[in-house]
Amino acid sequence: AGWFNNVDLAPAIEVFQLTARYREDTDPHKVNLGVGAYRTDEGQPWVLPVVRNVEAMKAADQTLNHEYLPIVGKPDYRKAGVELLLGKASPAVTQNRVDAIQALGGTGALRIGFDFLKNRLGMDVIYISKPTWGNHRGIAKSLGYSKIVEYHYWNEEKMCLNFDGFKADLESAPPKSVIVLHACAHNPTGVDPTHEQWEQLAEIMKRKQLFPLFDCAYQGFATGDLDNDAWPVRRFVELGFEMFAAQSFSKNFGLYNERVGNLIFISSSSSSIPMIRSQMEIIVRTTWSNPPSHGCHIVATVLNNPSLRDEWETNLKTMANRILQMRQLLFDKLKVLGHRWQHVIDQKGMFSYTGLNKQQCDFLVNRKHIYLLGSGRVNMCGLTTKNMDYVAQAIHEALT
Ligand code: PLP
Repeated sequence: AGWFNNVDLAPAIEVFQLTARYREDTDPHKVNLGVGAYRTDEGQPWVLPVVRNVEAMKAADQTLNHEYLPIVGKPDYRKAGVELLLGKASPAVTQNRVDAIQALGGTGALRIGFDFLKNRLGMDVIYISKPTWGNHRGIAKSLGYSKIVEYHYWNEEKMCLNFDGFKADLESAPPKSVIVLHACAHNPTGVDPTHEQWEQLAEIMKRKQLFPLFDCAYQGFATGDLDNDAWPVRRFVELGFEMFAAQSFSKNFGLYNERVGNLIFISSSSSSIPMIRSQMEIIVRTTWSNPPSHGCHIVATVLNNPSLRDEWETNLKTMANRILQMRQLLFDKLKVLGHRWQHVIDQKGMFSYTGLNKQQCDFLVNRKHIYLLGSGRVNMCGLTTKNMDYVAQAIHEALT
C-alpha cells in the first residue's frame, strides 16, 4: 500500500467550488454573486487605473531587482499601512507605540497574529462572530486554539445586528480571550455596529480584559471614505487598548493575487514594540520567510505620493459608488415586484446577507444559473445594470 492510500478528500471550499461551477455553466444568463471580488458594470475584473500607472512606472525602473525584502517587510510600506489605518495623528503613531509586519494578505496577517497570541502570550480562547468569514475558524483551528467561540451577531428574524446577544457574550467571555472584530463592512452580513454601539462594546472589553483583534479587509468599501471606515479602530486606540489589526489591500487596491497585507500591533509602551517585532520576525521566518514585493511596492508608491493617493481615492469611490447604485437598483426592482428589501440598502460593503434560505439559494443556483453562497450572501459587485432585471425576477420567483 502507498503512503497516501488513506488520505481522504477534503471538503470543498464553497466559494471556490461555486466559481468553478459558474465557469463551467454555458447558460448565457449566468451570474456569479459568489466570490468577494469587485466587478465592473460589464461584469469584468478591474485593475485600478492608479495601479496600472504605478505598474508602468515600475516596469521602466531599472533600479529595481529581486533581492529578498526584510523578513518584517518593506519599511515605507509598513509605515504607510499603519498611517492609513490609524491616521498620522494617532496617539499610537506619535508615541511610537505601533508597528506592522508585512503579511501575505489579510489571511497572512490573521495567521501570524493568531500565532503570536497563542504561542507567545498563551491565549487559548478566541471569539468570532456568528456568522463570519469562514477562514477565521479555520486559522484558529489549525493553530490549536482549544476554544473557538461564536458570539451572537446577526438577528435573523429582524435582519439586523443582535446587539444584546453580542454584548452578553462579551460579558461572559473569560479574561484574556481574543475577540475578532470586523472593522467595517462585516463579511458576510454587511451590518456594522453604530459608533454608540462600538463605545459600549469597548467599555465591556476594557472591563473584562478582552483582547481586540480587528480584521480590516474593507477599508474604504463601507462608506467610500477611508477615515470613516477606520473609525472603530481609531476609537479603540484612543481609548488606550493594546490590540492587533489585520490589514488587507486585496479589495481596496484590487490586488487580490499579489497578497498584500500587514499585521499591525499597538502596545501601551514603545519599549515593547521591538520585542514584539522580533518575535513576529521568528514567526514569519518559519512561515513564509520573506514577503513578496510587487504588491507592496504599488501600495507604498501610491500611499506615499499625494497625487497618486488622490487618484486611488477616486478609484476607490468608483467601486464604492457602483456598489451603492446596485443596492438601490436591486431594492427598486424588487419593490416593483412587491418585495421590501430595505436591508439591501442598509447593509454596507461588498456583501449583502439577503435572508434567502438554503432552498431558495439552491433554486437560484440550480434553476436560474445565479451563483450565491448557501447562506444567502451575495456579492453586490456581481450585479450589473444588464443582469439586474434577470436577477430581481429570479429572486421574486424564489420568494413566491
Ligand atoms: N477578512 C475578511 C473578513 C475577508 O472577507 C477577507 C477576504 O475575503 C480576508 C480577511 C482576507 O483577505 P486576503 O487574505 O485576500 O487579503
